[in-house]
Amino acid sequence: MNNWIEKDLKYIWHPCSQMKDYETLPPIVIEKGEGIYLYDTDGKKYYDVISSWWCNLLGHCNPHISKAVKKQAETIEHVIFANFTHKQAIRLCERLSKILPKGLCKFNFTDNGSSAVEAAMKVSFQYHQQTGNPQKTKFMALTEAYHGETIGALSVGDCDLYTKLYKPILMDIVRVKGPDCFRCPYRKNRDNCECECFEHAEKTFEKYGEQTSAILVEPLLQGSAGMKIYPPLYLKKLRELCNKYNVHLIADEIATGFGRTGKMFAFEHAGVSPDIMCLSKGLTGGYMPMAIFVTTQKIYDAFYDEYNTGKAFMHSHTYSGNPLACSAANAVLDLLEDGRILEQANKNALYFNNLIKEKFLPHPNVGEVRHIGLINAIELVEEKQRKKPFAPDLRIGYQIYKKALMEGVILRPLGNVIYFNPPLVITREEMDKVTDIALKCLNSILPAKK
Ligand SMILES: *Cc1c(COP(=O)(O)O)cnc(C)c1O
Repeated sequence: MNNWIEKDLKYIWHPCSQMKDYETLPPIVIEKGEGIYLYDTDGKKYYDVISSWWCNLLGHCNPHISKAVKKQAETIEHVIFANFTHKQAIRLCERLSKILPKGLCKFNFTDNGSSAVEAAMKVSFQYHQQTGNPQKTKFMALTEAYHGETIGALSVGDCDLYTKLYKPILMDIVRVKGPDCFRCPYRKNRDNCECECFEHAEKTFEKYGEQTSAILVEPLLQGSAGMKIYPPLYLKKLRELCNKYNVHLIADEIATGFGRTGKMFAFEHAGVSPDIMCLSKGLTGGYMPMAIFVTTQKIYDAFYDEYNTGKAFMHSHTYSGNPLACSAANAVLDLLEDGRILEQANKNALYFNNLIKEKFLPHPNVGEVRHIGLINAIELVEEKQRKKPFAPDLRIGYQIYKKALMEGVILRPLGNVIYFNPPLVITREEMDKVTDIALKCLNSILPAKK
């Protein structure tokens, strides 16, 4: 074990990890990155096809973004964002307002995804308090949702792995049974269904709509649930239902924003706008921690009054609107704005999905291959016909992860779902290579022939 690893384990408590696992698989010390590649201190190269926790959008050490951040660091690194402002933030909001779904025009900055979710919830609640609906104190969210891990964000989430233990200290959330397209109880197909499962939302709104402030959704893609994908029609129906009950629709686009689903924002697929949208991850291309919630003029106006009315939104984070982060986000937009990167990514996305279907679908333990944009998920099952899942304690995904790491590919499955969520700039040759390696690793853990 080299010296760095020893010291790491002496001091660092890594996120989302059983630290004891590091006894057999120590943390990998990354030295540098370039494009979709990471290099460790021994010079070993890794394909980063998970975009470093889904945030690296345009490759590691992207020269244009690096240059912008460097320049900003030499100009002004931090500005207190109450009573002061700066050009990078102003430019960023002006540019975002031109590409966001219609009506989203007021920007509030935080410094991570969870905090943006919580700020969005607070703003929704306060809006109703200040517009004559004090009974609207509840929040709704979908089954298997993930919205972050601070107490409020964890409350709206529904992944047992993260929430179960903390239930006694979490908020009471109204849970809407969401879409489950792979195991659709109506025996429909996500490409041509009428979202029959929306009946659950309708029933829940009938019962709790009047008391509800907002419903949170991860549009089209429930990431942490195992890259579960559902059709845009669901969002369209939800928009109408929210209008009917005066419930805010909060879009958590933290994972789906900035081209991940083939459009700039997942909500575009549905052709409707949410009332509040949360952004982070790809926002800065993975350079700096920053998040934003964006909302409508209507919501903003309910807070706009004389100071002594007490209607202001008294929410702040020290790093709100940090100039370095804003400069990274502006650099990301420089690269995305002309549309060529996304266009190329969309062409490659079809290639990637076909490649994965071809290679993986024949395997007896592959239950489904699903994709949206460049994101592809391979759901492993014990029995294909009955879609019977593997027992979680077999840790099939983790075994494949370890294997792939040795082969120089970072997969990091979610339970029994192997997925690819690469930077938008991945090439077809790189797709060929990583799918070959991933298949080889799958075959070594779950041999194709019994
Ligand atoms: C990552 C993520 C969050 C939380 O963001 P953090 O910056 O990790 O707090 C919330 N919602 C979704 C959909 C995410 O993918």
